[in-house]
Amino acid sequence: MTPPDPATPARAGGAAADLAVVGAGIVGAAVAFGALTDRPASRILVLDEGAGNTATHWSLGVLAPWAATPGQRDLLVRGTARFRDPRLLALLRPHLRRVSVLVAAGAPTLERLARSTVGAGMEPASPGTVRAARDAVGELLLHPGDGFATVHGGIAVLDTAAAATALIDAVVDAGGHLRTGVRVTRVDTARPDGQRLLLSDGSTVTARRTALATGPWPAPLIGSGAASRSGASGVASRSGAAPWRTKRMA
Ligand SMILES: Cc1cc2nc3c(=O)[nH]c(=O)nc-3n(C[C@H](O)[C@H](O)[C@H](O)COP(=O)(O)OP(=O)(O)OC[C@H]3O[C@@H](n4cnc5c(N)ncnc54)[C@H](O)[C@@H]3O)c2cc1C
Repeated sequence: MTPPDPATPARAGGAAADLAVVGAGIVGAAVAFGALTDRPASRILVLDEGAGNTATHWSLGVLAPWAATPGQRDLLVRGTARFRDPRLLALLRPHLRRVSVLVAAGAPTLERLARSTVGAGMEPASPGTVRAARDAVGELLLHPGDGFATVHGGIAVLDTAAAATALIDAVVDAGGHLRTGVRVTRVDTARPDGQRLLLSDGSTVTARRTALATGPWPAPLIGSGAASRSGASGVASRSGAAPWRTKRMA
């Protein structure tokens, strides 16, 4: 039996949450906030074991405007469109700053970069920009024939840890739930009442959908619910028992 859990939203229509997000780093925070934006009435539960030392806390947060493949270009275009949401901008603006960028490379690389720039334009760097870079970092290591280019208007740098906190706070303010200090060890799919998440403290929660945003850390085991319970703590492998759609996010 599932022990009572005060942090778990009340059950309605079978599942306790419409969406359970595992991981409160920048990806989990963005997924939870995106779900709130797209479906304001949905019940969102964010679960994080609270490791603290996450990729998001180490991230430089450079929002690089370059896409090497059509898929990356599409992702950047859609991500940039999301940024036009005034509510999102208001949350992120305090954690965003613009910095100048100087690219030193050969002509073919500079041309390739210019072609792959999304939502921004590259232009030859002025002597003043090159001088400023030399003043900041010392003599530049160049190859013969290298030229200089810059991104018009600079590029954005985001304090990702602060941004993740702001997004999660907004989700909680809108009625979502955040539960920290528990590790999700297993997600049982294909159950009549939704997916069931097993937590490291022995409790469970149910959700209609689950988004795994566990970053570089081992993801929970995914199972159909019929498999054995022996892997309920610290499991890191996948049983492959149920269909599971994986999206790579950048
Ligand atoms: C030094 C450095 C610099 C970087 N610079 C950039 C950059 O400039 N630009 C850029 O785009 N990217 C950069 N990255 C990459 C970027 O940081 C990561 O891609 C991004 O932060 C990953 O975020 P995440 O939310 O997926 O993972 P994380 O931030 O690691 O968050 C995952 C969360 O999930 C929780 N969790 C994990 N497993 C479980 C579980 N089973 N149950 C419950 N909770 C769980 C963890 O506690 C954690 O809070 C950099 C990374 C590093 C290390």
